[in-house]
Amino acid sequence: MPTDRVPAADLKDLFGQVSHEIRIRILTELWGADEQTLSFSTLRERVDVRDPGNFNYHLGSLTPELLRRDKDGYTLTYAGRQVVGAAVAGSYTDATELDVGPVDAGACPSCGGSVETVYEDGDVVMDCGDCGDLIASLPAPPIVIAAHDSDALPKVVSDHFQTQSARLTRGFCKLCDGPVSATPTVATDGEAVTNPPELDVTFTCETCGDITHLNVGVVALHFPELRAFLHENGVNIRDHYLWELDFLLKPNVSVSGDPFRMELVVTVGDEVLALTVDESLALVEYERR
Ligand SMILES: [Zn+2]
Ligand SMILES: [Zn+2]
Repeated sequence: MPTDRVPAADLKDLFGQVSHEIRIRILTELWGADEQTLSFSTLRERVDVRDPGNFNYHLGSLTPELLRRDKDGYTLTYAGRQVVGAAVAGSYTDATELDVGPVDAGACPSCGGSVETVYEDGDVVMDCGDCGDLIASLPAPPIVIAAHDSDALPKVVSDHFQTQSARLTRGFCKLCDGPVSATPTVATDGEAVTNPPELDVTFTCETCGDITHLNVGVVALHFPELRAFLHENGVNIRDHYLWELDFLLKPNVSVSGDPFRMELVVTVGDEVLALTVDESLALVEYERR
């Protein structure tokens, strides 16, 4: 990630704003309150600060970025809620302490053997216990792992990954919510991380520069045309782990240039759907065959 996209001055200001116990208590009191907005006196009473001048000073340093002030009192801004949410997620940050797996995670798309899942250094890694194939390696924050039973790990990881990929394919960065652009790697001279390289899609955040690679089948999964096709053919994607959908993860792909077009042919039983996308991964055509 290019560090010049992260405004150091803003980051310093933000950390400065919350680097005081009273300010942290103000944020957590507002977060935990039944009311969305608290008046100056109620908030001061709950945070338990005697000196109104001192309290006002701390409130002022959180406004307007983290707190909004109006005639009724103080409300957390979106950024204020994000700061508290990050602190909650941060209480689970010690990924190395999490000892999870191996957990059974369904059938191997290559040999039908059983897939085993472990959580290592912030990634969920799935291997086939029989043929040894690496099925997937997916990043997942520790809270996703720590907040669920280990038996539920494959389902939770699959759902989390689908949520993240849906967000990216709708155009929102998974870190900062800034706009992202999608490019199939074969449409550029970029280096693919998937095999075959035709299946690699690169998402780049125009705001923070974060880069994510997804399999094109995972991107296509969010087209309603494909979901309808799967539904009609008895495939409810909620009943499957993502890595079990081999017709998606290993689709028949062909690429042509000028204008760039990529065709994915998805087959379920005897039924066939061909989807054609352009260089921005927008669906330009679909056809039942
Ligand atoms: Zn296998
Ligand atoms: Zn971003």
